[in-house]
Amino acid sequence: MNLELPKNNVVFGNMGEVKNGILYIYRLNCFYDLMYEIAYTVYGTDKCWYCGKPCRRGKGRPNDSRAKITLDHLIPTSIGGPTIVDNLRPACHACNDQQKGDLTSEQFFEILSLQKQLNECSDQADRNSLSKKIAMRRLEMRKENTDKRRGLIPYLPEEWTSKKVSGDLLGTISPDIQLGNQFKKQDEFYRKYKRIKFPLIISDNGYLLAGYNSVAISKKYRIPWQLEKIVLENVVVYLRRGTPY
Ligand SMILES: [Zn+2]
Repeated sequence: MNLELPKNNVVFGNMGEVKNGILYIYRLNCFYDLMYEIAYTVYGTDKCWYCGKPCRRGKGRPNDSRAKITLDHLIPTSIGGPTIVDNLRPACHACNDQQKGDLTSEQFFEILSLQKQLNECSDQADRNSLSKKIAMRRLEMRKENTDKRRGLIPYLPEEWTSKKVSGDLLGTISPDIQLGNQFKKQDEFYRKYKRIKFPLIISDNGYLLAGYNSVAISKKYRIPWQLEKIVLENVVVYLRRGTPY
């Protein structure tokens, strides 16, 4: 797939730059930061994607009433949603953490629209049936997401994942990666749902950008065929001379 990128050329400090529609990454350990910066560049920082509330980035002035902006994963990380620009949208804290929770953006938009109907409805009988409907849909969504965790239904859009077999993956995998807290969490996820949580994210020139723990878990349980791969065809890792990677 092609990663969503700004139309103009943009330099992101010493992390990388977008030039003529290609993202060049200069350091491997800043992939997530780059994704956040690009998401803010593409989608802005001044409005919540879900409720439209005005937002701000950073502290703001003392009497600034705008909500602080966060980045929401459209497909939540709790079911394996990757941290790539296409899966990130600016959202206010209330929508992101408190209300959306583990729902996908599609599910959350449906709940928001039902809640809007409920707020605008004055007939008590209708209100009751709407409330029941919201509760029922939430249950169904929870079940659907559990099925996604278990791999019974796809958790990623088909057009994101690649069947293209890339050769040996470049980049480094730290030898102590298995001791990390993230590894433990993903190990627990694997044991509970029997699916590797996150896909591998790979640059067009074969560098592993994210998914180290997925590789480690596939090695631990010897299950390489379960690894989903997202190849970012407009992303190239270009490590400049003198960098430690
Ligand atoms: Zn919001």
